[in-house]
Amino acid sequence: MQTHDSTAASGEQDPLAIESALLAELGAELVTTSADIDPRYFSAYNEAPGRRPLALVRPRSVGDVSRTLALCARLRQPVVPQGGLTGLARGGVALGGEIVLSMERFAGIESVDAAAATITVRAGTPLQAVQDAAAAAGFTFGVDLGARGSCQIGGTIATNAGGTRAIRYGVMREQVLGLEAVLADGTVLSSMNRMLKNNAGYDLKQLFIGSEGTLGIITRAVLRLRPKLGAPATAMCRVAGYDAVLRLWDRMRAVTDVVSFEAMWPSFYQYVSTHTPGVVAPFAGEDGFAVLIEFATSTPGGDAAQTLEACLADCLEAGLIDDAALATSERQARDMWTLREGLAIDELPHLVNFDVSLPTGELGAFAERCEAALRARWPDIVCVFFGHIGDGNVHIGVSLAELDDALADELDRTVYEVVQEMDGSISAEHGIGVLKRAYLACTRSDAEIALMRLLKAALDPQRILNPGKVL
Ligand SMILES: Cc1cc2nc3c(=O)[nH]c(=O)nc-3n(C[C@H](O)[C@H](O)[C@H](O)COP(=O)(O)OP(=O)(O)OC[C@H]3O[C@@H](n4cnc5c(N)ncnc54)[C@H](O)[C@@H]3O)c2cc1C
Repeated sequence: MQTHDSTAASGEQDPLAIESALLAELGAELVTTSADIDPRYFSAYNEAPGRRPLALVRPRSVGDVSRTLALCARLRQPVVPQGGLTGLARGGVALGGEIVLSMERFAGIESVDAAAATITVRAGTPLQAVQDAAAAAGFTFGVDLGARGSCQIGGTIATNAGGTRAIRYGVMREQVLGLEAVLADGTVLSSMNRMLKNNAGYDLKQLFIGSEGTLGIITRAVLRLRPKLGAPATAMCRVAGYDAVLRLWDRMRAVTDVVSFEAMWPSFYQYVSTHTPGVVAPFAGEDGFAVLIEFATSTPGGDAAQTLEACLADCLEAGLIDDAALATSERQARDMWTLREGLAIDELPHLVNFDVSLPTGELGAFAERCEAALRARWPDIVCVFFGHIGDGNVHIGVSLAELDDALADELDRTVYEVVQEMDGSISAEHGIGVLKRAYLACTRSDAEIALMRLLKAALDPQRILNPGKVL
């Protein structure tokens, strides 16, 4: 399918010469030579080890990142920036001939500004550490996702991660006020703005958010904090069809306490409710959608459980939902989230995951068209849909009896053709990386791709930053 781009920097240096140059510039404390690199630095999430990088650099400062890139620019040596390696588009692994630059040692909270409600963090800081620091200072951080313990702030910014609170606080882009990045030639671009308003010329930080390490290496960020949320209240509802899901969403989004609104199509709920050991499903997986709703309030003295219960009673009376279960313990709430996270799906043979977006109102029709297109080609396919409905994001899990590269490509094309026909996006929140590179044109116009190439050429003329990814 995709191959390493031949127009990228050559990477034709003698690997030993690269190692020696890195060791001479940075020292053995920062550089691990190829043979000694632990396989976790060249294994994509949940995958077997791939290509061994020429070297691993683990900087301790912005200056170390700058010196590494300045040297790589001189040597035309390709570099793969790496965070927590939880990305789902294989963007953080080497394809052959690169060095890997892991940000794991450049971690930590630098400061919290309570008056401005901001936190300044280093790129290698795990997301969960930022959430914990925010809570300790009396705030909430706006982004949450399942990989919170391992993914890094730099990685979540580089992929513009979304997650389960996007309907309340927006995606990662909406959390970033300021950013520092190191450019391909080693220049440190410090744009550590701390204000909500700053219209002094181009907003340069946007270049790096969501660019998956292809335009610069993110080193530090100033992030927004939100008022502290009280204990969440969680419920699962049974809803007749997608139109009813939409009516329920319409009702719920008017309530300021809503944090998450996650829909599971009938096939998904049926599967996870019968294949997740140790979890008590709130209702049997018959026909109908399951919707997980979470409320949390920042109003002092507010009670999210009471508000949610009252809302559900209203919705039952109005006939918007057929059944509802309000979690009365942390265990019940966790079980509901475990079902929604759908780990049971990962056990399906030859599973291929998709992460697409369309306007919320069109997701029901999309799922029907997509499943019909898949079944026309593979009648016995297992195919499930679930997602963050409020932000138009649906995940699709497809399991075929057998799978090779040609079938995987045909499967991708079948799904992305429907996305393209309905004017959606082939990547809602996981990015393009390597996996979706061949399909970028399903979502972006020729003019958009040409401008992306122009930006890439301007910022990284030798194509040493994450070659073979995105473009
Ligand atoms: C269980 C699980 C649940 C998830 N749930 C969600 C979800 O709900 N929503 C969602 O959006 N995503 C989700 N993800 C995927 C998500 O994209 C990643 O978890 C996260 O955003 C990537 O961070 P990372 O530090 O692991 O980056 P990596 O995987 O290491 O890298 C990802 C990309 O960013 C680049 N990169 C990393 N660090 C830097 C840096 N400092 N500067 C420049 N480029 C960099 C890499 O080159 C690569 O292209 C989930 C993943 C898992 C495993």
